[in-house]
Amino acid sequence: MQKDILYDVIIVGGGPAGLSVGSELSKEIKVLVIEKEIAGETDKSWFIPLDVAEKNDDIMKYTYGGVKRYLASTYSGADLSWEVKQFARYPFIKEKELLSYWIDIIKNNNSQIINNCFYQNHTVKNGTVTVSTSKGNFKSKLLIDASGHNSVVLKNYEMEQDYYWWTIYGCTAKYKERPDHIKIGDYMLWQTFEDTNIDKNASLREGRPVFEYMVLDEETYLFFMLYLNREKMPMDLAEEVFMHMLREEESTKFFHDVEIIEPRFGYYPSGDLPERRAKDNVDFIGDAGCWTTPCGWGMSFILTNYKDYADNIIQLVKENKLDEKSLNDIIKLDVHQRHQILFDKLITHFLSNGSAEDLDKFINFFNIIDPLICEKVFTLRVTHEEIEELLKNFLKYFKLGELIKIIPKEDYLTVIKEIKYLLADLIFEKIFPYHSEDESGYDYYDEVIDEIS
Ligand SMILES: Cc1cc2nc3c(=O)[nH]c(=O)nc-3n(C[C@H](O)[C@H](O)[C@H](O)COP(=O)(O)OP(=O)(O)OC[C@H]3O[C@@H](n4cnc5c(N)ncnc54)[C@H](O)[C@@H]3O)c2cc1C
Repeated sequence: MQKDILYDVIIVGGGPAGLSVGSELSKEIKVLVIEKEIAGETDKSWFIPLDVAEKNDDIMKYTYGGVKRYLASTYSGADLSWEVKQFARYPFIKEKELLSYWIDIIKNNNSQIINNCFYQNHTVKNGTVTVSTSKGNFKSKLLIDASGHNSVVLKNYEMEQDYYWWTIYGCTAKYKERPDHIKIGDYMLWQTFEDTNIDKNASLREGRPVFEYMVLDEETYLFFMLYLNREKMPMDLAEEVFMHMLREEESTKFFHDVEIIEPRFGYYPSGDLPERRAKDNVDFIGDAGCWTTPCGWGMSFILTNYKDYADNIIQLVKENKLDEKSLNDIIKLDVHQRHQILFDKLITHFLSNGSAEDLDKFINFFNIIDPLICEKVFTLRVTHEEIEELLKNFLKYFKLGELIKIIPKEDYLTVIKEIKYLLADLIFEKIFPYHSEDESGYDYYDEVIDEIS
């Protein structure tokens, strides 16, 4: 541990955001990662869209299998299953191996990781950040906060995290026998039970938990229980409810005797337009920077962006341009991306606020439209034609009055914003063939958005 050196970057947090970005940065500049526990020991498991894995050649070898079939089943009667069109569109990640891969890169490049080192506070003076930790003070030109959903750095700046939150508890488990109707690659994404809330019609937001399972391979299941509320739910409650679902519910009887291997749990924000909230010499990534989508593809966001983000940071460090504006300009979203995020947010809030009956109706809606469109909404890959098709059918299926009741008042502004971005994107797509990666379009988009506003 070298306290007297000036690091280029200090990263708080040895989770996927900190280690992925740290590994890329370490190829050119001097990095220190501090982790309050042991870097790379995660209590999460991930699957991601295939094209995200494919974007990174080196990451592909840490993926396996994938979702082949989606299922939904509610106590109130909705029942649906659909095959994934192209196998392994959503591969699973060998999480520990991937994190170790990034750790090795950091160490081999002579950058450092310090475990059991808790970030406490920092100060910025004349372009130097002094970071106080449980193992003493360290100095760098830039501090990157990758400490996750409960960031102390954000708290020190008194920055609010005003989101809906996913609370999730589950486990990986070994099985000996698998009934014929449950297949490898199955993903039960929405199962509910009558006895998990006294109010039969309670929404997720009112405390109706959802059960999920995935069949990872010949011998492993992954189980989850999720809440989606304005607040994070207590983890001991989440664990208790999960164990009841796994061990006692009649409809999970095939799982009652599975052998639990490791718990999997945590919280993650149901994102919004990622807030660019950098300060001079300080930036935020991963869950701390709301690098996610409203339905919670945080790992996917990290894998999509970490290499480009790190390239930009290396450039800024070399040019010594670590002011708030330069940092905030790194990730720019065009109008198309913005309206996809807001659309996803509205649907996710609809899922949280809809009663059991509304959600059944929503699930059964996929008997009318192609469920692939739903997947695309959640992974931000939906086209205008598909949104048009979806909205047309949605408004036939749900009366406007019903929707107004489900979407809470606080989201009306989001609806207006979304209409604005959707229209602007449509107009642009028709008139100007700007591609989302064509940076020259960004400023122009913004100008016209201001006009429309
Ligand atoms: C159970 C679960 C399943 C998920 N499944 C998926 C999925 O299938 N696909 C997907 O795309 N996303 C998924 N996500 C979301 C994804 O895991 C998160 O978005 C991602 O982990 C965020 O990474 P991070 O590095 O920002 O934060 P974290 O993974 O939370 O890592 C933060 C690290 O910072 C450390 N830390 C915290 N405070 C301090 C401090 N003061 N000092 C030093 N270190 C500190 C923590 O110990 C931790 O190691 C899932 C999340 C959970 C909880």
